[in-house]
Amino acid sequence: METRLIGKSFLDGKQLEISVSEGKIKAVSFVETSPENLWIGPGFTDIQVNGYGGLDYNAIQSDVLALGQISRKLLSYGATSHFPTIITNSPEKTSALIQQVVQLRKMDPLAASCISGIHIEGPFISPEDGPRGAHFKEFVQGPDWDLFQKWIEESEGLIRMITLSPEWKGSTAFIEKCAESGILVSIGHTNANHHQIIEAVKAGARLSTHLGNGMHGVIPRHPNYLWSQLAAENLSATIIADGFHLPAEIIQVFKKVKSEKLMLVSDSVALAGMPPGNYEAAVGGKVTLTPEGKLHLFGNPNTLAGSAMNILQGINFLLRNNLADLPEAWQMASVRPLRLFKPTFDPFQIGQNADLILAKQQPDLGLKFLKVLKNGVEIPFD
Ligand SMILES: [Zn+2]
Repeated sequence: METRLIGKSFLDGKQLEISVSEGKIKAVSFVETSPENLWIGPGFTDIQVNGYGGLDYNAIQSDVLALGQISRKLLSYGATSHFPTIITNSPEKTSALIQQVVQLRKMDPLAASCISGIHIEGPFISPEDGPRGAHFKEFVQGPDWDLFQKWIEESEGLIRMITLSPEWKGSTAFIEKCAESGILVSIGHTNANHHQIIEAVKAGARLSTHLGNGMHGVIPRHPNYLWSQLAAENLSATIIADGFHLPAEIIQVFKKVKSEKLMLVSDSVALAGMPPGNYEAAVGGKVTLTPEGKLHLFGNPNTLAGSAMNILQGINFLLRNNLADLPEAWQMASVRPLRLFKPTFDPFQIGQNADLILAKQQPDLGLKFLKVLKNGVEIPFD
């Protein structure tokens, strides 16, 4: 069966017709006219997903297959690929959590095609209160290549990135080994000084993780790790654009500084996608999820307990607040993160898996999906 999509390209607004059959892009041509306000682009890639819809990649499951629901839920919000993100834990538990994702992919072909990598966030981060965020202090440690190599082997090559702080001794050598092994190093949860950040970038670090979050509440005006990461030419950056983690004006500034190197992650935790209410969370204890989607410690609305959004909500936050136009917002959630791992990625290449979205832009509301295709198959959405 052949599917045809007609709309404006998310790259440049040119009017396109894309034919899909047998799961692949079969033909792409320019057309004279297309329905008003319809856009075509690749599915989104979210490189930081801790969990979603009550399911947690950071908890051992009695039924591993249940985790496959995360892929299905994220697909319905346009994320055709994502990286399960495993945060600081004991070495043994980290191994078990990695193996759980590997096992899930072997049992569930759809999850296997949605999970395109694992992101290890920690344990080689800052032990300091503030930069450490909600990561368990007892398991934070300096970089250990033997340990990380063991995890790489256990992941069967699925670990594609690590978030670390270069403030530890031995960081430069560790980052070089990651870069040689094709693993993206991202700076995050850091209390590193300017020199350490410069050295990390020289050694091969290419990204900052959720820039502007995972920081002290108060920092020296200068120098500080925020200026150093903003100034580093070769550092791209991810942000959490849920309206709670960063005020709009910070996103405006980050966009001006990083331009096409700025991209979105959801950093969603297990409670994302759940109904508003009070919950007992694995990290953070008693928490409240508000109807607006803010997740905070119970009785303390100023302390966030993780992100409760999906990446589509991030795009829509940018659109609704005029922080990006549609092509840019879409690129921030798709080609930009993908090209960190595959620099030549062309979303409309013939023969490529048809992970595509046809969507309408609605003023003040953001994107409304008309079709979401994963490997050419239509996905149901809300
Ligand atoms: Zn984090």
